Amino acid sequence: MATLESLKQTLRQKTVATASSSKQPLSDTQYSAGFDTLVHGSGWMTYQDFIIPQLSQLLAPLFSSRNHISVLEIGPGPKSLFGYLPGHLRRKIVRYTAFEPNGLFATRLEGGICSSSKTQSPLPCLESWPHIHQFPFCLKDDIGCGTDTVTSEYDEKYDVILFCHSMYGMKPKSKFIERALEMLVEQPQDSMVVVFHRDGTLHLNGLVCHQTASFPTGVVRVVNDDEVLDCFASFIAGFVMQDMDVDKAIRVEWRKVCRALGRCEEAYPDHLLFSSPNFMAAFTQHATTLPELTAEVPSVKEHRTIKNREARLHRAAAIVRPTKVLHIQQCVRWALKHGFGLTVFGGGHSGHCLWSNVVSIDMSAFDQIHTFTVGEVGGESNSDTGTLVVAEAGCKSGDIVRKTMAAGLTVPLGARPSVGAGLWLQGGIGHLARLHGLTCDSIVGAVVVSVDSSQVLCIGRVPSQHQPAGAIRPVNELDLLWAIKGAGTNFGIVVSVTFKAYAAPTYWVRDWVVPLSDNNEARLKLSDFDKFATRKLPQNCSVDAYLYWDVGQLHLGVTIFESSTTRPSFATPNLTPGGGLWGSEADIKTVNGVGMFETEMYVSGMHGGHGNGKTSSFKRCLFLNRIGEANVADRLVTAVKTRPSPLCYLHLLQGGGAVGDVAADATAFGCRDWEFACVITGVWPRDQDGTEAAQAAVRWVYSIAEDLLSLSSGVYGADLGPDPRDATLAAKAFGQNRPRLARLKNSLDPCNVLAYACPLPKTLTEQKLIILVTGESCAGKDYCADVWVSVFNKCTHKNLTARAVSISDAIKREYAADTGADLSRLLCERTYKEQHRPALTEFFQRQVQQRPRLPEEHFLHMVSGAVDVSVLLITGMRDEAPVAALSHLVPDSRLLEVHVRASERTRRTRRGCDVSDGDGDNKKYSNNSGSMALDYRPSLIFDNDTTGNEAPIRFAEQHLLPFVHEDLQRLANMVRQLPGFPSPGIEFHHVLGIAQQPGGLTLCTALLQTHFTGDWAKVDAVACCEVGGLVYATALASRVDLPLVLIREAGKLPPPTVSVIKPLSHISSLASNSSKEKRIEMERDVVAKGASVVVVDDVLSTGATLCAVLQLLNEAGIGAEDINIMVVAEFPVHRGREFLRQRGFGRISVQSLLVFGGA
Ligand SMILES: Cc1cc2nc3c(=O)[nH]c(=O)nc-3n(C[C@H](O)[C@H](O)[C@H](O)COP(=O)(O)OP(=O)(O)OC[C@H]3O[C@@H](n4cnc5c(N)ncnc54)[C@H](O)[C@@H]3O)c2cc1C
Repeated sequence: MATLESLKQTLRQKTVATASSSKQPLSDTQYSAGFDTLVHGSGWMTYQDFIIPQLSQLLAPLFSSRNHISVLEIGPGPKSLFGYLPGHLRRKIVRYTAFEPNGLFATRLEGGICSSSKTQSPLPCLESWPHIHQFPFCLKDDIGCGTDTVTSEYDEKYDVILFCHSMYGMKPKSKFIERALEMLVEQPQDSMVVVFHRDGTLHLNGLVCHQTASFPTGVVRVVNDDEVLDCFASFIAGFVMQDMDVDKAIRVEWRKVCRALGRCEEAYPDHLLFSSPNFMAAFTQHATTLPELTAEVPSVKEHRTIKNREARLHRAAAIVRPTKVLHIQQCVRWALKHGFGLTVFGGGHSGHCLWSNVVSIDMSAFDQIHTFTVGEVGGESNSDTGTLVVAEAGCKSGDIVRKTMAAGLTVPLGARPSVGAGLWLQGGIGHLARLHGLTCDSIVGAVVVSVDSSQVLCIGRVPSQHQPAGAIRPVNELDLLWAIKGAGTNFGIVVSVTFKAYAAPTYWVRDWVVPLSDNNEARLKLSDFDKFATRKLPQNCSVDAYLYWDVGQLHLGVTIFESSTTRPSFATPNLTPGGGLWGSEADIKTVNGVGMFETEMYVSGMHGGHGNGKTSSFKRCLFLNRIGEANVADRLVTAVKTRPSPLCYLHLLQGGGAVGDVAADATAFGCRDWEFACVITGVWPRDQDGTEAAQAAVRWVYSIAEDLLSLSSGVYGADLGPDPRDATLAAKAFGQNRPRLARLKNSLDPCNVLAYACPLPKTLTEQKLIILVTGESCAGKDYCADVWVSVFNKCTHKNLTARAVSISDAIKREYAADTGADLSRLLCERTYKEQHRPALTEFFQRQVQQRPRLPEEHFLHMVSGAVDVSVLLITGMRDEAPVAALSHLVPDSRLLEVHVRASERTRRTRRGCDVSDGDGDNKKYSNNSGSMALDYRPSLIFDNDTTGNEAPIRFAEQHLLPFVHEDLQRLANMVRQLPGFPSPGIEFHHVLGIAQQPGGLTLCTALLQTHFTGDWAKVDAVACCEVGGLVYATALASRVDLPLVLIREAGKLPPPTVSVIKPLSHISSLASNSSKEKRIEMERDVVAKGASVVVVDDVLSTGATLCAVLQLLNEAGIGAEDINIMVVAEFPVHRGREFLRQRGFGRISVQSLLVFGGA
């Protein structure tokens, strides 16, 4: 399928060849019509599947770290892309500017944003009218030239600048991006320029990306109709011809080009399809800092040929070639300082060892190999046996085999000499695997540069002479050693590896080629082969098979390898597969380890020796069992039959033996239960690189992988990368070890420096729990927070990571900088801190006067600095009712406040004062009600009067761990989300739908019952307002055996009643045209005055409904102190808690089972 870029080149060439008339830029109308054909021609899928989700994901952390966001959109077209972000992000945008030179688009854009109703506007919280400049975004030097642009437009600063549609008409692109970078808000430095670009990569002259994403499968489908094609072709070419006759003629030519290049598919007979890969690049102000790195680390100036052809298409920002370990550390420090990812390459055989606009580290200077017998190894205990090999990470398999062979040794490696460290770090399947295991199984130690701290780490066995100066043993040494044995490309930059070595064998190799006349014969032969390989072969033998199509027929090529350090046993007849079924034996070849590389290459002589070696390939590998069974064999045969190029084949490498002897969780590799690794190999002639033939082969590999996935017992993680098509395969790599690897990724590479390795799941998909630990001084807040962190962290089955931070550290830092106080003593020494307390408090108050939003800023700073944890405990908060005040700032997280309190006597003791001093004991608490002197209700209160950690541990187990219980996640999963319902821009969460799911109502009511922080024995009734609350309250009332108090629309309950006005709920107000207010009422005497009532509702959003219910209960004689509220789901963006507090209900406990970020 031709890409839009190649279509553009061909259309343009046509005009050069056939027309002499001059070209004319498209009018606004022509441009608009062309744009519509593109977007309507399924181009919208690209927005839906790539652009909008990527943009939302990219911007979410930035938006959540700021109160307000200003945006500049360059070339948005008729609609702002920001308008498609989730509602809670859109509501943060307060200033909007655009450069849109097309007059039609500019008018539509403004009309859309300035919609008459605020709720209909895609950007409902703008504080000023949008600035839509109807001229192009210019470089500084061009301002004023031929446009009515004035410099002041460019003096504004923005949090986000977005180039929407491939930077149409902007050349050179790097200059425009640099211009935009100058327009970013300077502090904080994480403001972003984001570019969406069609067709491959951006060539950006050394600008470095903060983050990238690709969407290789984008397709544009255009109706195959003269008129539509005319519009489309001129839009893609970017011009029309001035002369009418010439234009008419060229259109005819252009239609032919479109029809020749566009692909027709049966499913869309009236359409032409063009490939439209998309690419996203995000830059921060650090994008121009490459010279900082290249001043310290040597870079590769000359042309560097990378083995993998796909990787060659990527334009790295730079390739650096460290020659000492310090250089690698400098790379990591630079990446961490500026928020960049890095790629590393060893042998260069994977498609993502180079990545566009990212710095790549070429390890080729680390090419030393050393062998040691145990006595020579420094730092080794006498109990260690055997021989070790230290191989630096720039070595290739061939180097290692050659060097070790000279000492009579070997390491089990793969089949090609040029393959590098990627093989042994990710697994390593070779001809010795059944005898000695995978290559990674032989790793006993390594030297690694940490991508978290940039420290040099020694893990496992590393001979002392190969431990770099200053290297340390990390606390998580065992975890790291475990992780690099199979997933080693994700956790650090490996400098060298220590292998256990084995005696070098000699190999006896022989092969057969068996033609397969039809499916039946294929099935039969595969079944024979399977039985032979899996049942008859001793562990020192292994087989490879190739299923391929040659000279008009399917073939099975089989090679058997026997390795031995003594003499061959291979001639034994019973090892002949199928007892002669396989045709005549070829000569047995006897080779050493080096000779094996060449021997294997010519095994089956297929395809005239692999297309004379002038081919490119693309591979993905799955693990299979029982390949002889009909369902597997048939799929393998069909796969080869549907190959798009004659050279594609399936390669089956035998497993079992020592591979399966290692427990699945003993190394990160994980997938151990397989008889064959099936390498789906897409091959095309090298001179067709980048063409449709190459793309078709890649598509074939992915489609076969998808087809075999359900039959497979796992996937080989090697070479899986950021391509979205790898995601489903990566989900089956590493087997049961994936959650542990994900957790380790978070702790060992928290900034995702190695962002382009095999994707691991993000463990933090579950909602973050933020616990504000508040209380009077010396009540033991920090102590409790630390105990609770350990309770969460010990909860290993949940994969939780918890951390406690103090929000006052931020102000202490500012205070120390301002006054010269000693920051480390302020942070760590209680007496020093107490001495400074009054001055610190005064400093804080002064700062708040100058920056009223300072507490919010500090809070957001704490949260955004803890992306790697699932439970964050924050101490040192001074805010009143912090959950009501702050939860809308972190709407995707659950925010709780635990108030720690202790008697005056205990606090004095902890402070180190005399306990008999003052009025301590006789006034245990300010008040005994549990709410102390606070005029609001914290989520939980913990009395911390005993010493030791027993009580806080019990409290955490009883009251905090339920918030991370999987039942809550199960409940959340039952809430269906419906974007755009009941009106555009709303992400509706169908909370009531829980009751329609099997088991939903029971689960929900059980959770309402168990999560209640009060005492059900002291409750007199459950109250609810129709209709949402009624469903859950009825079931709950029955479960806890309490009467139900019904609150209904006025006129539906028998008198006497009490009533109040109730405004429409948030969603009803969007969906309904009826008047905004209704009356609700309840029967006057249905519950006694002064009774204790739990109000149950489905949702807390604006709080208007609950407020009316509380007012009604007040009317009926139920005081606020006797009411508790429980809701199924809360939407903090609407600030319902704050509203209830402002209406005088702040001291009522409000509990929600679920918290959702959307509307
Ligand atoms: C022709 C060919 C034959 C093959 N034969 C076999 C085989 O017999 N058995 C087998 O198991 N596999 C085989 N493979 C697959 C091979 O293992 C993977 O392609 C592997 O990723 C290649 O590693 P590399 O170092 O050559 O590639 P690279 O692209 O340089 O590296 C691959 C990955 O490793 C990472 N990496 C490299 N060095 C380091 C380092 N020092 N620290 C951290 N990360 C690093 C890279 O960032 C990249 O993600 C073969 C592949 C090819 C193309």
